[in-house]
Amino acid sequence: MGWSNAKNQALRERAARVIPGGVYGHQSTLLLPDEHPQFFARAAGAKLWDADGNEYVDYLCAYGPNLLGYGHLAVEAAAAEQQRQGDTMSGPAPVMVELAEQMVSMIAHAQWAIFCKNGTDATSLAMMLARAHTGRRKILVAKGAYHGAAPWCNPVPTGTLPEDRAHQIHYVYNDAESFERAMRQAGDDVAGVFASPYKHDAFVDQELPSREYAQHVRALCDASGALLIVDDVRAGFRLARDCSWSLVGVEPDLSTWGKAIANGYPLSALLGSERARAAAQRIYATGSYWFSAVPMAAALATLREIRESDYLERTQRLGQKLREGLAQQAAAHGYALRQTGPVQMPQILFQDDPDFRRGFCWTGEAVKRGALLHPWHNMFLCAALTEGDLEKTLAATDEAFAALQRREPGLGPVEKLRFLIARRGE
Ligand code: PMP
Repeated sequence: MGWSNAKNQALRERAARVIPGGVYGHQSTLLLPDEHPQFFARAAGAKLWDADGNEYVDYLCAYGPNLLGYGHLAVEAAAAEQQRQGDTMSGPAPVMVELAEQMVSMIAHAQWAIFCKNGTDATSLAMMLARAHTGRRKILVAKGAYHGAAPWCNPVPTGTLPEDRAHQIHYVYNDAESFERAMRQAGDDVAGVFASPYKHDAFVDQELPSREYAQHVRALCDASGALLIVDDVRAGFRLARDCSWSLVGVEPDLSTWGKAIANGYPLSALLGSERARAAAQRIYATGSYWFSAVPMAAALATLREIRESDYLERTQRLGQKLREGLAQQAAAHGYALRQTGPVQMPQILFQDDPDFRRGFCWTGEAVKRGALLHPWHNMFLCAALTEGDLEKTLAATDEAFAALQRREPGLGPVEKLRFLIARRGE
């Protein structure tokens, strides 16, 4: 049976009538190739089935949450058991204390944990906490870094006020001079510094921080009294079994977590050091679902797997193979690919593709052949990916390169390209 997307299209049309923009945010079809399915019916392991029944090897992993594989048995069993006992109750279940103990024991810098739902909850709390701790206002954020969709950090300013970001100062990631300038500008009013584990911005090549840079950032935070916040929402547990900046020898004061920590169950966390504990007790942090117990039970099971399995080494090994296979194919078809970032979180961009036209076309063709790839956002490998899945993927991408040669210079929809080009210039 060939690939078709009739049901997906019908759902898109229905959605357009009752859901603003059809589907909002980064999953809006405006930002993706037309072939990209928007509605998924089922998931298992490293595979997804869309509303039309097409099967995909999934390299998006729900944009991060799927770390161990969809429907991971131990995680699902722990969640189901907790579900039988109770989920959202009038207070937390005992599992919350156990989960906090586990997080604190695994993450070297952390002495306490606050649990919430979305990454944005955790990053927003981190900002409040840095201000509460220091009594100061300025927050340093790397230009182009994503920390969530609240008014203070939303990448699209529509509906927000300049005042929402009035006390933010931007610096260039991995550039010590730029960071020093931002610190000088903040003067004695600096409350906190957000650092991504590495530069994983959309639309651009990914960049790992140098050890010297990361340690310099730590030293300047110490000198000024500002809290250093590593935003590990996306990369947490995908690079290390500790906070990601443990790889560059730096312990932050705060770290923010989400996505992978409960293998897809809605849970995020703010972790902090002893120094930040008193302020953490003073800020008001809550949400109707923040104490729900099922995601916490799922997280406990996920953490056990993180400690006891080779999930990380596995995704690195397969990621390396994928990178090498794609590089060979691209060369054979006469294309230059820029593959950046950790191999298990690959960003794949085409050289000489300023308007992302090739990337859109190639990923669209790969999608039709069963490999769910993304043209401008970093991707993710999950631990359930098999050698067989990888082979299928490389067969699909090889054909997609050939199809790209036949289709070029086919234009993607103009409005999509305009949006992307406008975003790149920001
Ligand atoms: N920080 C980072 C680094 C992220 O990647 C994301 C989500 N992509 C967030 C914060 C926000 O998380 P959420 O979408 O769960 O609010």
